[in-house]
Amino acid sequence: MLQDKDRIFTNLYGFHSPDLQAAKMRGAWDGTKFLLEQGRDWIVNEMKASGLRGRGGAGFPTGLKWSFMPKASDGRPHYLVVNADESEPGTCKDREIMRNDPHLLVEGCLIASFAMGAHAAYIYIRGEYVAERHALQRAVDEAYEAKLIGKDNIHGYPFDLYVHHGAGAYICGEETALIESMEGKKGMPRLKPPFPANMGLYGCPTTVNNVESIAVAGTILRRGASWFSGIGRPNNVGTKLFCVSGHVNKPCNVEEAMGLTFRELIDRHCGGIRGGWDNLLGVIPGGSSVPIVPAHEIADAYMDFDTLRNLKSGLGTAAVIVMDKSTDIVRAIARISYFYKHESCGQCTPCREGTGWMWRVLNRMAEGRAQKREIDMLLEVSTQIEGHTICALGDAAAWPVQGLIRHFRHEIEKRIDDYAANPHSESVMIAAE
Ligand code: SF4
Repeated sequence: MLQDKDRIFTNLYGFHSPDLQAAKMRGAWDGTKFLLEQGRDWIVNEMKASGLRGRGGAGFPTGLKWSFMPKASDGRPHYLVVNADESEPGTCKDREIMRNDPHLLVEGCLIASFAMGAHAAYIYIRGEYVAERHALQRAVDEAYEAKLIGKDNIHGYPFDLYVHHGAGAYICGEETALIESMEGKKGMPRLKPPFPANMGLYGCPTTVNNVESIAVAGTILRRGASWFSGIGRPNNVGTKLFCVSGHVNKPCNVEEAMGLTFRELIDRHCGGIRGGWDNLLGVIPGGSSVPIVPAHEIADAYMDFDTLRNLKSGLGTAAVIVMDKSTDIVRAIARISYFYKHESCGQCTPCREGTGWMWRVLNRMAEGRAQKREIDMLLEVSTQIEGHTICALGDAAAWPVQGLIRHFRHEIEKRIDDYAANPHSESVMIAAE
């Protein structure tokens, strides 16, 4: 269990003020100048040694990502872009950082930018996050006023930080679509390569990181890489914000050690499963794009990147969506399919056509108006979408469907049998709102 002394986000629930003075008392901006004086290489090496894996979903090592930026400028500026789009259904962790502990993020932006030779950073914040944008902008203004950042700041490293408000499109959480959107274009993902580290924002070397990955940087460097890497399990270290929603008694956001078990997470922080553990049906452990894991597999599984990948799912953003036995699981996944159909940018044929096709088929299956042979056809189509598109939205649309068929095929078959026995039952289109 994570002890209070090891928490990074000590104002996650907003019990204290988010302003600069209070943030400093909690430890933010403590010795930042000293950290920068250790040099770029030291910072990158410490981040590598800490074992921090990106908190935006992919779990790519953060220090390694920073090291991909060119060591010296070829004349083009370097940029850090912070992805605060947080649109993955079920995810609400970065929101709390920006509301209640924004100075950890502002400080992290300075440190990360210094480590990558960037003199400007942009935070791209989700369109719906209006209050969070105000809170973040207030923190940025305070940091400018106190000369913690800016052209002539007390750290001796000229640095500007801008908050950029998106317009509320899920696809802008994809890093290259986010960059396109920031450049004033439609948020459509770019083909890679070239990767942003070579050709990112305005054609310049750019690193895109998640809010949580950047906000933890200052504390990791202050307390040391070995402190962070000593928490959790091998290759899955440190603390992590979990956002638990759905059929638990007390849904919550909580910072915990990586690698605690699902049962520990739910019993310790969420008051247990609604109706008891025997009432658990399944869990989507990392935001709506990762496949569902059935109750018997998830109950005592470690909540980390590697364990959940071995269960053919993923930690993703650690947005844990719990479903009890009252859930109409086929209808729930059909609703998720509708979301991906709606958010597809339409550039790639498999995604543009396939997401709508899967939604329509699932819709029929939720009512039982389907043939059993269509289940395998649906699975086959999902594999033709997965891995055959420009960005990961195609995968994100395919995986929930694959998880449903892998674990709940019997439920779809039962619907089909029930409908065949009683074909005049009422039909309702899902999520056409
Ligand atoms: Fe657009 Fe979908 Fe292709 Fe991504 S996979 S680029 S969202 S059409």
